[in-house]
Amino acid sequence: MTTNQLSDSRFRAVCSSAGRVLGPTAPRGRRGGNDVKKSALILSALFFSCVQTFAAASIRAVATTSTLANLLEEVGGEKFEIHYVAPPKRDVHFISPTPKDVLKVKKAEIFIHNGLDLEVWRDPLLIAAGNPNFLGNAGRSIDLSRGISLVGIPAAVSRAEGDIHLFGNPHFWMDPENAEVMAKTLAEGLANLYPAEADTFKRRAEEFNARLDRKLKEWLERMAPYKSAAVIVQHRSWPYFMNRFGLIIAGEIELRPGIPSTAKHLAGLIQIAKEKNVRAVIREPFNEGKTSKKLSGETGIPVVTLVQSVGADVESADYISMIERNIRALEAGVE
Ligand SMILES: [Zn+2]
Repeated sequence: MTTNQLSDSRFRAVCSSAGRVLGPTAPRGRRGGNDVKKSALILSALFFSCVQTFAAASIRAVATTSTLANLLEEVGGEKFEIHYVAPPKRDVHFISPTPKDVLKVKKAEIFIHNGLDLEVWRDPLLIAAGNPNFLGNAGRSIDLSRGISLVGIPAAVSRAEGDIHLFGNPHFWMDPENAEVMAKTLAEGLANLYPAEADTFKRRAEEFNARLDRKLKEWLERMAPYKSAAVIVQHRSWPYFMNRFGLIIAGEIELRPGIPSTAKHLAGLIQIAKEKNVRAVIREPFNEGKTSKKLSGETGIPVVTLVQSVGADVESADYISMIERNIRALEAGVE
């Protein structure tokens, strides 16, 4: 089960129960040779069992987001005890890792992240944790932006206006075809670190991708009636998703990613909404709601709430259900 409560307590329980036996039993060996031999056998059996349990189910992993944690669960299976950092109901750009997150990274064997600057807090977190596995070129981090065709790469690199999409748009996981690339990258990255399990990771990634492929065909059919429908989005998090399903982004409420709207900008959006036959205003649950409400009030266009994180709501328990939930919301909400 994926959880942000890393179940290292489970690991401690297994190994410390062996530890409790190790302590009091060993000195009793003085009672006689057979007892010593028996104790040694019991000890080695317990130690072996502890090591086996660790090898089978307790590789400590930290993922930056709940969505990546879910992909790791799909590809890695029960071998990983996964902690994720960003709470799924919050804007992943702007969370602050807690001391607990720092501790989890400090103890982790692998670190899975989205790459680019989605997690602007990622490097400070890694530095605070100081885990040599993830510093410099240590190679136990897996960057899931590898192999993705990015959109929105700015011509000039500058944070002068607070841009948080500095290296290209980092919301690529919202296109199911990109999620398939990510699952493959994850399987390859895990295979490099745990070569004995390479075939398992490959098989699990292929199974996940086959399931996703089947759903994607269905989603594309269901979205066909909305082809070329224009929408206005709040944050620039939707180009990959909308491109995949054939919707057109006619405007954005934020002035630039992370920069709030202004009255002048809103007036321009109202104009665009009328001219381009915009059929929905897309917001996420954590976005400020006043501007989309005002835009909707002025134009009569419905507001549709979509989510980008596994666990953002009860309908989004895993990656496939999250996309399904969004498709359903568009079917119900787009005029
Ligand atoms: Zn963003």
